[in-house]
Formats: sequence, structure tokens, C-alpha cells
Amino acid sequence: MEDFLRRAAADLHIGVEQTSPTTWTLTIPGSLGRVFGKETVLVTTDKQVAALDPDLQLLSPNSSLTLRLAEQLRSRGRPTHRARLEWYPDQVSLLADVQEAQLIQGPNLQLSGLQQHIVLRITFRIRFEREVIEEKMVACCVDYETGQVWPTITDITNLRDQLTPLPSTGLTDEHVNVALHHARRWLERLLYPQKALHEAQLAQLLAVEKARINAFYDALEEDSGLALGAKEGESNKQYALEEERKRLLDEQEYRYALSLAAETVSVATIQTPVLHIGSKHQPHLIAISPLFEPMIQLPHCQTCGRQASLVAHKEQLVCNVCHQVLAQ
Ligand SMILES: [Zn+2]
Repeated sequence: MEDFLRRAAADLHIGVEQTSPTTWTLTIPGSLGRVFGKETVLVTTDKQVAALDPDLQLLSPNSSLTLRLAEQLRSRGRPTHRARLEWYPDQVSLLADVQEAQLIQGPNLQLSGLQQHIVLRITFRIRFEREVIEEKMVACCVDYETGQVWPTITDITNLRDQLTPLPSTGLTDEHVNVALHHARRWLERLLYPQKALHEAQLAQLLAVEKARINAFYDALEEDSGLALGAKEGESNKQYALEEERKRLLDEQEYRYALSLAAETVSVATIQTPVLHIGSKHQPHLIAISPLFEPMIQLPHCQTCGRQASLVAHKEQLVCNVCHQVLAQ
């Protein structure tokens, strides 16, 4: 808990002064004044001490202070948790799986070993909002060192037993900022095709609605002979009808407009072993970790930016999506 407090304080620019083995005085910066409602907060990790002194706020995993700090960290994209994933894979059988799936056709594949990677794991909640609201969760891992991004499982409940505490990592604010930047770009690239698809569907529905409204008002105007402007003094009525038509069309435009929002749900720093499989010359083509979704990750093509299976062509590996030679 003390470790969480120190990290949260460092990230949020909160001053921390230890006043006894279990009590601290926090100096809240002006930017967080509204959140905490005061300039100094006295905290303790000792339940009994907190119960006796109404001025002391309890810092425990579920106390309101902890939740408030975690919320502030999350909204700034700061990791709220740190963990190490313990994973001891059967490397030979994973190599056999990769070979069988023919993800990389041509070169002889070999195990390139298990490497520890420190990643920023971030989960987003995506809301597509139109007549019905669609919500879904997506997550990715960003390698702090290389900036590489892997899609990640959104629910790590099944891995809980394999998570152990991760001591300090030496990561700076700058590391986190760069990783967040990569995560957001990944999210944009992920959402773009879905957004385009939604917009196309909405445009189609809108066109149908507009045609229906226009047909209705065209018929109405024709019936009353307004289209010809035949009768004197009826121009007001025509004007009113046109206004009504315009209002209905605008309403439909609004109804079929797409709203899309992404909200950060959780941010953590995780050290995970990654099993790499590759060729003799390109040992890191495939990356495997139980955090990844799917667990076996194809190489990133540096031309089209997508993950793709590879095929050997004239002794070079070619991306199966854009057919460019993979440069590594
Ligand atoms: Zn490509």
C-alpha cells in the first residue's frame, strides 16, 4: 500500500511526508484541489489509528482515498498496478503449433528463447453511440523498450494466480508517455475500419429516411398544387411545408450521426515472458505470451503496419497482406 501511495504521489505531484511508521501527510497540488477538497490530507495504513482519529484517512486497497487516487492515475493514463507474470511454457509444443499453423511459410523456424518484456497494459472501453449504444472492451500491451504493440486479452482473471508483485522498474514518466502514445495510435488504427463501416451503414439508413421524407412532402405539395405555385396566397403554406421538411431531415441527420468515445478503464505495468520464434536470420518473427490475444502474435509488417503471415519468396519473407518484403 505504501508503495502504491508513493508511486501515485510521484505521478500526481502530491507531496508525501512520513510522520510516523504508519502515517503520512499529503500535500495536494492546486490542480487536484477540487478532487480532494483540501490542501493537506493525513493518511494512515493502520485501521485502528484511522478509527480513533477522524482527521486521518485510511489507505487500504478499497478505501475511498485509494479509489480516488487510482481514478486520477487512470484518467492520466498512469499505471495503477505493477505485476510480474509467471509463465513457464512448453516451448517445443508451441513451436510445433506455429509450424502446423503455417503462419510463416518457407524458412525453418526455431525457438529463439523466452525474453522478459516490460509492457504497459491498457484497457479501453469503446462506445459506439447511435440509436443503440454498443459497448466493447479492447486492450493492448506496449513494450516500454521497443514501442511494439500487441493486442491483449481484456480479462486477466484467469491469469491472476500467475501474477506476482513486481519490484521497482526504473520506468520514468517519459517511458509511460511514449507507451501511451503508441497505445492510442494502435486504438485509432483498430477503430478506423469499424468507424468507417458504421458510418457507411448509417449513411445508408439516413439516405432511405431522407428519400421517404422527401417523397412524402413532394406528394403533399403536388396534391395541393403548390408545386406549380398556382394559387395566390398559398406561398405561406408552401413555406411552412418546406420548413417542416427541413426540420425532419435535420432530425434524421442527427439521429444517424455516429458518436464514438474511448475511455481508459485500466492501466498497469506488467513484466511478462515472451516466447519468440523465428528464422535463423530473423529470430523474433513470432511473439507468444498468455497476455496476448490471440496468444500467438504474427510479425508486424513494416510496410503496411499490419500483423500478417509471411511467405518466403526468392529467399525473402513477403507480407501476406501487402506483398512487400518484410524488412527487419
Ligand atoms: Zn504488409
